[in-house]
Amino acid sequence: MEVSDVLPEKSPKMSIVEKMFGGSNPGKGSFKKSPENSKVSDESSSETPKKSKDVSPRKSIVEKVFGAGSVSFKKSSNNEDNEGGMELMEIGGERTKNVLILMSDTGGGHRASAEAIRDAFQIEFGDEYRIFVKDVWKEYTGWPLNDMEGQYKFMVKHVQLWKVAFHSTSPKWIHSVYLAAIAAYYAREVEAGLMEYKPDIIISVHPLMQHIPLWVLKWQGLEKKVVFVTVITDLSTCHPTWFHPWVNRCYCSSQEVAKKALQEGLEESQTRIYGLPIRPSFARAVLVKDELRKELEMDPDLPAVLLMGGGEGMGPVKKTAKALAESLYDKKAEKPIGQIVIICGRNKNLVASVEAIDWKIPVKVRGFETIMAKWMGACDCIITKAGPGTIAEALIRGLPIILNDYIPGQEKGNVPYVVNNGAGVFTRSPKETARIVAEWFSTKQDELKTMSENALKLANPEAVFNIVRDIHELAKQREPGAFPYELTASFTSII
Ligand code: UDP
Repeated sequence: MEVSDVLPEKSPKMSIVEKMFGGSNPGKGSFKKSPENSKVSDESSSETPKKSKDVSPRKSIVEKVFGAGSVSFKKSSNNEDNEGGMELMEIGGERTKNVLILMSDTGGGHRASAEAIRDAFQIEFGDEYRIFVKDVWKEYTGWPLNDMEGQYKFMVKHVQLWKVAFHSTSPKWIHSVYLAAIAAYYAREVEAGLMEYKPDIIISVHPLMQHIPLWVLKWQGLEKKVVFVTVITDLSTCHPTWFHPWVNRCYCSSQEVAKKALQEGLEESQTRIYGLPIRPSFARAVLVKDELRKELEMDPDLPAVLLMGGGEGMGPVKKTAKALAESLYDKKAEKPIGQIVIICGRNKNLVASVEAIDWKIPVKVRGFETIMAKWMGACDCIITKAGPGTIAEALIRGLPIILNDYIPGQEKGNVPYVVNNGAGVFTRSPKETARIVAEWFSTKQDELKTMSENALKLANPEAVFNIVRDIHELAKQREPGAFPYELTASFTSII
C-alpha cells in the first residue's frame, strides 16, 4: 500500500486551514495549495475512489472535528490581516492556553503522571491553562493504536511475549519505520484528535506518543507554534521510543534516563532531570498516620503493610497475601503482629480471591483506589512489583519497599535503583517476603527505620512542580508573531 492510498480525498491542510482560520470564510483567511499538495490531493482522489466518504469507517470521527463539506481556498498575501491571523495572535497571549496530555491506560503509571501534571498546573497557574488528559489514539484512531490497553494487558500477562516485543522494537530503524507507517495511515485521525483540543502545549507521558503527533505537527506547519514535551514515566531502563529529537523538552526521571536520552540523539539543552512526576496529593498534603488510620477504618496500633501490583493488580499478590496471613499471626500468643492493606487495582478477580482467604489478622481489600496517598500514608512498608509510579510514591511517603516482581524491559532497572540505594529489597518468593515483613514488624524495626530514611532521601516530591514551571517558561517564549504560521509541504514528503 502506498502512503498516498491512505491520505484523505481532500487535502488535509485544507481542513486545518478551515479549522484554524474559519472554513466558512475562505476569502478572508485563505491559503493556496502548493503544486505538491495539489498533486497529493489529486492522486488520492483519483486512486482511491472506493475509499470515498460513504464507505470509510474513518470518516465520521474526522468529520466530527473537521466538518463534512469540502472548501476551496486561496492564499492570502498577508496572513495577519485575516481571521486566522487573529486567532493565531491569541496563541501565547493572555487567553487560557490549552494543554493536551497524551496518555494511555497501559498500566496505571501513565494516567497517574498525567493527573499529577494536570493538578500541578492547576495549583501553580490556576485558570491560565485548560488541561485535557486524553488517549487520543483510543478516541480517534483504529487498530492497533486504539487498543493499546488490551494489547499491553495481554502481553504483560505473557511476559516472554512482552520481553520479545520490547527488545525487538528497540532498534531505531524498526520502530521508526513502524511508527511512520502508522502515522501515514492515521495522520488525519490523529490530526482530528489534536485539533479538537487546539493545544498550545502537548505533553506526552507515553513511549508511543512522540513520533506520530510530532510528524502531524510538522505536517501542519505547527511544530514551531505548539510546545511539545515528553515527560518520561520510567525510572531507569526505558524504551527508545520515548526519545525524539524534535521535542522541545524531554523531562528525565533520573540521571540514567538522561544519559539514554543523549545516546538516542537528544541535545543536553533539551533534557531536564527533575524526577518522576507524582500527584501533588503525595507532595503537598500533610498526612498524619493516626488520623488516616481512623479515616480508613484501620487498626490504630498494629504496624501495616500495603500489598499491591500496579494499576492492573499484577504479580504474586494472592500468594503473598496468603503467606502474610500466616507470618503476621502469632500462633503462640494467638494475636496478630501486623495488619495488611491489599489494593488490587483493576484486577477484579484478584479482589474476589484475596477476600476468600481465611484471615486472622486485620485486612482491607480494595479494588482501584483513587486515594493512594492516604493508603500509603497509613502504612509502614509496601510490597509491590517494580512499577516506577508506585516506587516513586512510596519513596515520598518514606515506605521501605519489597519488590516482588518486575515487567521485563522498562521495570528491570528499577530493582537495583531501589535495592542499591538502601530503600528496599527484592525477592520473588512470597514466603521470603512474608518473613521479611514479620521481622520488620518485630525484631528488625531498626532496619525498617533506616530503609525509610533512605527512601525519603531518594524521593523527588517537587519534580512535578519543577516540570510544569519549566513548561510554563517554554510556553511564554512562544509569543504571538514570534513564529509566523506557514503551511509545510505535504505529510508524505516528511516521512
Ligand atoms: N494506582 C492507583 N490506584 C490503584 C492502583 C494503582 O492510583 O488502585 C496507581 C499507583 O498509585 C501508581 C500507578 O497506579 O501511581 C501504578 O503505576 P506503576 O508505574 O507503579 O505501575 P503500572 O500500573 O504502570 O504498571
